[in-house]
Amino acid sequence: MIRKRNAILRSPEWVIIGIGANLGAPRVMIETALKELSEIAMNEVVCSSIWKSEASGMDGDDFANAVAKFEFNESPHNLLGKLQSIEAKYGRAPDHGHHTPRTLDLDIIAFGDQQISEVNLCIPHPHAAQRLFVLLPLREVDPNFRFFDQPKSLDELIERAERLRIEKWED
Ligand code: AMP
Repeated sequence: MIRKRNAILRSPEWVIIGIGANLGAPRVMIETALKELSEIAMNEVVCSSIWKSEASGMDGDDFANAVAKFEFNESPHNLLGKLQSIEAKYGRAPDHGHHTPRTLDLDIIAFGDQQISEVNLCIPHPHAAQRLFVLLPLREVDPNFRFFDQPKSLDELIERAERLRIEKWED
């Protein structure tokens, strides 16, 4: 194995990344993000379909959403740094606010069964278990996934999630 400089390698963990975009060409952006994620993954990236969801809690065009699952062998903080570099590469302003339109948004939904509660990093992602645009693609890549702090199955979470317009992106 080639050792990467400045990266302390650890046992690989399965990570789940939520991807969202609603500016420019969102579907193309998701495909580009998946290629970028394959560069940081240890091996294969398992990808969901691309979904189209209404912009919830903000004005703006529909979002394209997807979920990716892959093995990663650095720390959660290194993963966050890499995701933020990818976001910055595609034009997301560093001082964006929450709930704003964005070229590319990458969230760590889960990192193995680790729990982290820090100002800049919360894992599992605090809202993932309530969001249909995470839960529906997540069920495609890992139907038996359970948030380790959450006894409900994905089917049960999907049943209870806030309703919003969401469908597979067909064009
Ligand atoms: P958002 O606009 O919702 O994408 O929030 C981005 C900010 O959330 C970043 O500054 C991150 O430091 C922080 N953050 C906290 N937890 C996570 C997580 N699990 N995945 C990605 N960003 C996170």
